[in-house]
Amino acid sequence: MFNTLTEHLNKILNKISNTGRLTEQNIQNTLREVRTALLEADVSLEVIKNFIEKVKLQSIGKKFNKELTPGQELIKVVKQELINCMKNTNEHLNFSTIPPAIILMVGLQGMGKTTTTAKLGKYIQKNKKKKVLLVSLDIHRPAAIEQLKVLSEQIQVDFFSPLTIHNPLQIAQDALSYVKNKMYEVIIFDTAGRLHVNENMMKELNQIYNSISPIETLLTIDAMIGQDAHNIINQFSKNINITGIVITKIDGNARAGVALSIKEMTGKPIKFMGIGEKVDDIEAFNPEKIANRILG
Ligand code: GDP
Repeated sequence: MFNTLTEHLNKILNKISNTGRLTEQNIQNTLREVRTALLEADVSLEVIKNFIEKVKLQSIGKKFNKELTPGQELIKVVKQELINCMKNTNEHLNFSTIPPAIILMVGLQGMGKTTTTAKLGKYIQKNKKKKVLLVSLDIHRPAAIEQLKVLSEQIQVDFFSPLTIHNPLQIAQDALSYVKNKMYEVIIFDTAGRLHVNENMMKELNQIYNSISPIETLLTIDAMIGQDAHNIINQFSKNINITGIVITKIDGNARAGVALSIKEMTGKPIKFMGIGEKVDDIEAFNPEKIANRILG
């Protein structure tokens, strides 16, 4: 699907590369096709409308650089607008608190939350040179706690072994007691997901959120989820203050359109992207990279 979008846009934009002249008519025809391509990539209609308007405003009547063909010039405008739409002003993790900085990981089951918890732990310990502790509060999914433990050993980041596996609030409090005087700078709490947003999950998350007061609450969203992404973000946001989004599985699909929709529809910054299954496969969100991938 990702390749289809890229190829499709390229095909459309190449069509006008050879016309020698960019007229209002061929911008409109071309942008109509761009709209269809973005729709096929699961970008929401509202976002596409705004996006197309912005590109139109900047293209029609614009004096083009002689070194570029009109088609190349239009690609430049489309690319720049894609970057503007996805750009963050606050993409960095906020550590400005008395240590330890608490990061809460939330999201639906299967989105890559536990994997991202470990990836982020390694990323922060290695790149930010901070002492990190990982804690799993997922008492619902069989073997979730063990999954994080195994990952933590693999990445050599400390893991809190829970004293009980029945009550996430108790585990959280035990972990907070455990870190006292241990010089941890960051604690990342992984939580239980569900297949769909439901009342029990939100109630539990709410209680956890209030009891640990995280400085960052990161919602993991699978890039494959498409237009549902902003509904999910809005539902979580009604209950807890989501400070950032991590989009996972950017590596294996075409739905980079999700990044475009998320920023426009929710206003939430996308802070990281998961780019593979391995523990190092995480990067700070880079709108230019995504725009390049969309346009090919
Ligand atoms: P959770 O239920 O949200 O905690 O999901 P998991 O962390 O267990 O991940 C579910 C699956 O997605 C696992 O097979 C992970 O290896 C895979 N996964 C997570 N992040 C990525 C990513 O960025 N790219 C790819 N290709 N797979 C990922």
